[in-house]
Amino acid sequence: MSEPAGRNADPEVETSPVVGDEVAYTTCYMCACRCGIKVYLKDGRVRYIQGNPNHPINRGVLCAKGSSGIMTQYSPARLTKPLKRVGERGKSEFVEIEWDEALELATEWLGGIRRTDPRKLAFFTGRDQSQSLTGWWASQFGTPNYAAHGGFCSVNMAAGGLYSVGGSFWEFGEPDWNLTKYFVMFGVTEDHDSNPIKTGLGKLKTRGAKFVSINPVRTGYSAIADEWVGIRPGTDGMLVLAIVHELLRAGKVDMDYLVRYTNLPWLVIQAPDTAEDGLFARDEAGNPLAWDGERQACVSALLPDVKPAMVGDFTLPDGRRAVPAFQLMAEKYLSPDYSPERAARITGVPADTIRRLAAELAHVAFEEEITLNVPWTDWAGRQHDVMIGRPVSMHAMRGISAHSNGFHTCRAIHTLQVLLGSIEVPGGFRYKPPFPKPVPPAQKPRGKLGEVRPGEPLGGPPLGFPMGPEDLLVDERNRPLRIDKAV
Ligand code: SF4
Repeated sequence: MSEPAGRNADPEVETSPVVGDEVAYTTCYMCACRCGIKVYLKDGRVRYIQGNPNHPINRGVLCAKGSSGIMTQYSPARLTKPLKRVGERGKSEFVEIEWDEALELATEWLGGIRRTDPRKLAFFTGRDQSQSLTGWWASQFGTPNYAAHGGFCSVNMAAGGLYSVGGSFWEFGEPDWNLTKYFVMFGVTEDHDSNPIKTGLGKLKTRGAKFVSINPVRTGYSAIADEWVGIRPGTDGMLVLAIVHELLRAGKVDMDYLVRYTNLPWLVIQAPDTAEDGLFARDEAGNPLAWDGERQACVSALLPDVKPAMVGDFTLPDGRRAVPAFQLMAEKYLSPDYSPERAARITGVPADTIRRLAAELAHVAFEEEITLNVPWTDWAGRQHDVMIGRPVSMHAMRGISAHSNGFHTCRAIHTLQVLLGSIEVPGGFRYKPPFPKPVPPAQKPRGKLGEVRPGEPLGGPPLGFPMGPEDLLVDERNRPLRIDKAV
């Protein structure tokens, strides 16, 4: 049969032309995923972008946004020089100026502010790859009024994770795509971790692992989910805590994991109407206390051989009552406030579906556990012959963070993972260095009264993690010091 006219008519057509005379290796930044790319240059100009097959993030995968990265260089709308406003503000009257003039103007304006009151510079940047530099610059300038895009995006998720488990989703780590058997995604249609999630989902589908998507709409990744759970926006936390309710009711939590890695065995003081009610009980050296079932005594919860009680009512050496934190958690989430029936009314997800999801998670975590014959040593120096994996993993992002309850919803999702024993285990969610970090990270916010001095840098970065009321950026009348009122 003859070829249709115009198709492969010319046997000389070159289907793989040489598109460049030079290849530059770099990372794409059309989104925050940071895929490795090969940029083909010809006569010094970008001609073509290809995914780098040897890059660990994307292994050669390039999305449509990445391919169009060429326009960051050649779009006719691109700014190529500083613009100076010459008309009234709002009139959009600008002229191009040279960099020397721009820097001179900026130095003059900023120099005056720094010499008098550095707080008058509010320096808010967009999403870029230079926040470590811009944050450092702000602290050197001396202003606490610095932030990047994060406060408007998903920083509540990051903070919720850092305060709970020392890290969150995204660049903090990722599901063990090779071994996980049950993956739950909350509130994500597309993600900053774009290509790795796509390739990860591809692995799950190839292996027949189950992918559940909790989302009000079935778009993006949800299109290939094995089960889509349509949920009322902003109610994911209720769904998660109802699943926690069911797991606690059925006794399907990983007690060994909780004893080894969490503060749930620590004793909490029960002394109503006193300042210490609800705080952890500690010995004179400041160590948290647990009730040791073998010793029948209060001991440091940090002893490597402690056999702590997880429930019960105990008397501290000073005569006060105390109960393990786990008991308080169990009492709270076993209450009817977190029943599937109540959650169904709030979330729109049927109670039977909530029960089934809890049962499936428990089944995979405990009946399909992974055992690796790898001896290892835990943080307390205890030797283990095998490594137990709970092949359940989760991912959550914008759909969770874009609500006022995002911080606590994120904490609920991490709590669920912890109760299942599925963080930092084979098949679960695994961190990337340098995470997990101490909870919370040691960096405190700078910029309190007396810390901001004309002509001097701040004593540290403006953003950090408050540990108590004394760390908040407020004045003597508890009014926010920062321009964005972030205390
Ligand atoms: S996912 Fe696409 S846009 Fe984002 S870094 Fe990778 S190639 Fe670039």
